[in-house]
Amino acid sequence: MYGQMMQQPLLISSLIVHAERHHGEREVVSRRVEGDIHRTTYGQIAQRARQVAQALGALGVRDGERVATLAWNGYRHMELYFGISGSGAVMHTVNPRLHPDQIVYIADHAEDQVMFFDMTFWPLIQAVAGRTKTVKHWVAMCGREHLPADAAKVPGLLCYEELVAAQDGRYAWPSFDENTASSLCYTSGTTGNPKGVLYSHRSTLLHTFAAALPDCLDVGAADCVLPVVPMFHVNSWGIVYLAPMTGAKLVLPGAGLDGKSLYELFESEGVTVSAGVPTVWQGLLAYVDANKLKFSTMRRSAIGGSACPPAMISKFLDDYGVRVIHAWGMTEMSPIGTAAAFKAQHVDQSPERRLAVMSTQGRAVYGVDMKIVGEDGRELPWDGQASGDLLVRGPWVISRYFRDEGGDPLQDGWFPTGDVAKISPEGYMIITDRSKDVIKSGGEWIGSIDLENIAMAHPAVAMAACIAAHHPKWDERPLLVVMKKPGAEVTKEELLAFFDGKIAKWWTPDDVVFVDAIPLGATGKMQKNRLRDQFRGYKLPTA
Ligand code: ADP
Repeated sequence: MYGQMMQQPLLISSLIVHAERHHGEREVVSRRVEGDIHRTTYGQIAQRARQVAQALGALGVRDGERVATLAWNGYRHMELYFGISGSGAVMHTVNPRLHPDQIVYIADHAEDQVMFFDMTFWPLIQAVAGRTKTVKHWVAMCGREHLPADAAKVPGLLCYEELVAAQDGRYAWPSFDENTASSLCYTSGTTGNPKGVLYSHRSTLLHTFAAALPDCLDVGAADCVLPVVPMFHVNSWGIVYLAPMTGAKLVLPGAGLDGKSLYELFESEGVTVSAGVPTVWQGLLAYVDANKLKFSTMRRSAIGGSACPPAMISKFLDDYGVRVIHAWGMTEMSPIGTAAAFKAQHVDQSPERRLAVMSTQGRAVYGVDMKIVGEDGRELPWDGQASGDLLVRGPWVISRYFRDEGGDPLQDGWFPTGDVAKISPEGYMIITDRSKDVIKSGGEWIGSIDLENIAMAHPAVAMAACIAAHHPKWDERPLLVVMKKPGAEVTKEELLAFFDGKIAKWWTPDDVVFVDAIPLGATGKMQKNRLRDQFRGYKLPTA
């Protein structure tokens, strides 16, 4: 027997329709690449998203065709999010931090028909425009007055504001199967070519509901959200969807991701919730610290993408009254899988115990199931000790890569994340490593993330990466690569002594090297593979 409720497909357009009708005056504020602060509302974004949908039709874009963007977080990008997906085309967000060769590869692989871009990326566009095979239109996301003097270098360059202005917005969002593809995002491809992850309207909507929950990003209509996480990678963790769903005010920081620019927006716009990777918060905290500032409205900050050091969590809480929501996920998971919110029993626990809970990668958000397995594929216990490969499943977890790249990724219906983790009896998951980064010393695993977290708690350390270095006896031993804070001093001996009593003695790194910079990838993560290349053949003093 079927239930007798209405059949309404879960479509991305419904989010902006809802926001227009119920939160139409709520503001969306953007720091534009033109240099100013721009203010609009959900009502106006809904209108212009319909104009975008009409403009795509006028350009000949058909259902299911891919339309790419190369843009910062901003209101025009948001209009495209809804205009493209809402019309039935597929929104392909391209990460501008990728190498031009990779961008050409991705655009060809996706068969992008149109590419919208922020003027910041004009040099990049010139480098790729003549090389892509399918892009028919290049659209600069600005008014005619901001087109570059050398616009003729890309023949047929179009102007976004003119495209939008040519349409009247009298457009009814089409209805279609909720399993239709809505958007496409490529993984960063640390090794090999990037692979495409194709989200559906249904997966996106379900993820949005879950992401907004109190034990996840915890966003409501009274909030003001500033996603530092980029709209060009994994849909800014879904914030661009959950803000219109909840009616929260949205603040989009554009290219201004330095501590000063972010802090100014936090304060001037009354931001209550934000989300970003640890490296971004480092810049912000350094600025706030150096200038002895406080956050007057900020209450919560979601941190993920790589492990958030406990020292950062306690600094946010103790010095600034900001609660960190440590979250874990990946492109293949839309991206959120777990978030470190308390259970009832933690409420009255000691600050140390609460910090320990907040420092885990969190527990499964409803919709995502997880398990850890040993080398034989058998499930391991949730005892906080056993660590193994982390597998996940759920309605917003990938089932196949775009164009079946890499074959069937699933193992008995579960997606192997490539992370190594343990899970506590209370269900909190702790990533010990990416399987590619594991250090295997005498057959035993050493968790590099634990070592990095300890090093980063040292006041002189800005960033630390722990990598495996070859050892004749133990096969691999940990080598700590450290970038010091500007003007700070610390010796190798002092740093190694800092590990005393915090970990098993044999986990202590064998050596420390100081570097000027640690390479970061396109999503702000430390590129340990590059460090491993750099220190290949490094002779440990213990060898
Ligand atoms: P890519 O950089 O390949 O696009 P993602 O951006 O999807 O990958 O990143 C996913 C990976 O980032 C995860 O598999 C995990 O290794 C790492 N990661 C994400 N969040 C956390 C976290 N909170 N702690 C530790 N690692 C994390």
